[in-house]
Amino acid sequence: MTRICDAHCDTISRIYEKNQSLLRNDGMLDLERMPQGIQVFAAFIDKKNIKCTPMNYCIGLIEKYHDEIEKNSERISECLSYTDAERVIRDGGRGSMLSIEGGEALEGNIAALDMYYRLGVRLITLTWNYANELADGITEERGGGLTAFGRETVARMNELGIIADVSHLSERGFWDVMEVTSKPVAASHSNAKELCPHRRNLTDEQIAALIKNRGFIGINFCPAFLDKTLADLDMRGKDYAAHISADMSGAELVISHIEYMFSLGAEENVGLGSDFDGVSGAFSDLGGVEKMNGLIEKIRTHISPDAAERVSHGNFMRFLSEAGI
Ligand SMILES: [Zn+2]
Repeated sequence: MTRICDAHCDTISRIYEKNQSLLRNDGMLDLERMPQGIQVFAAFIDKKNIKCTPMNYCIGLIEKYHDEIEKNSERISECLSYTDAERVIRDGGRGSMLSIEGGEALEGNIAALDMYYRLGVRLITLTWNYANELADGITEERGGGLTAFGRETVARMNELGIIADVSHLSERGFWDVMEVTSKPVAASHSNAKELCPHRRNLTDEQIAALIKNRGFIGINFCPAFLDKTLADLDMRGKDYAAHISADMSGAELVISHIEYMFSLGAEENVGLGSDFDGVSGAFSDLGGVEKMNGLIEKIRTHISPDAAERVSHGNFMRFLSEAGI
C-alpha cells in the first residue's frame, strides 16, 4: 500500500473558520479520506484578514489542531520527530505534523519560537505573501530579504529542530536563508517557474540551490501554479478558477513539474505539497485528498515505480531525517 506524505495543507485554518471537524468535513481533506502516511497541517495566518494579532490567532489554530488530533487519536498520531514519522510509515498508520504558515505568528519575539516548538511546531513558512518581522513575502514589490530578526530566527530554528520553509518568500529572502541555514530547508508548496511562470514558483537556480542544500520541494496542486495560462490570469489579478476546464488533467501537469525537476537533478528532493484547502479552484483529478492514490499510480505508470516511491514519501522521509527533526 502506498504511503503518502504531504508537506502542506490549510485544512486546520479552514475548519477553524468554519467550525468543522477534521474527521469529516466538506473541504478537500479529512481523516475519513486521508490515505496512510503523514500530513503536515499549517496554522495559516493571513494578517490582513484576521481581527486579532497574529500570535493570538495562531494560538487559536494550534489549539484547534491539538483538539482535533486528540479527538481522533485512534486514526492519527502526532509526529514530533523523524522517529515518530518513521514509525507511522512503517506501521501504515496516519501521522500529523504541525507547521505555521507566516512568521508574523512570532510577533518579533524569539521566545515565541521556543514556545511554538514546545507546542509541537516543526516547520515554519517564514512569510506568507506579505512582509513581516522576518522578511518580505513574494508580493512585496521592494523584495526585501531577511531582517536581523529573520536571521536570528532561522539560526534558532536550526538549533531547535524547526524546518525553515521558503515557499512564499521573496527571492532575496530565499538567498539569504540559503546563506544562513546550517540545515536542509523546504519549499513546502512551490513548483517550477520554467514550466509555469508564477511568482510563487521556483527558478532553476533556486531548485539547484535546494538540491545542493539537500532540501525538499513539495509540488503544489494549485491550478495557477501548475498551468501557464492560469498563472498568467492569476498574475493579472483575474479569476483563474473560472477558466479551469473539466477535461484538464492536473495529474499530468504535476507529473510534468516532477519530471522537469528530476531533469535538474532533484530526484531525491521532490515530494508533495498539495495546498489542499488553501487555494481557490482545483483540477477535477486533484480535487481532494481522496485523489492522492490515483495521482501516485499515474506517477508510477508515467515515470517509474521508483519515482512514485520517492515522490509519495521516500524523499520527504529522507529530508526529515537529514533536517534534524
Ligand atoms: Zn501557502
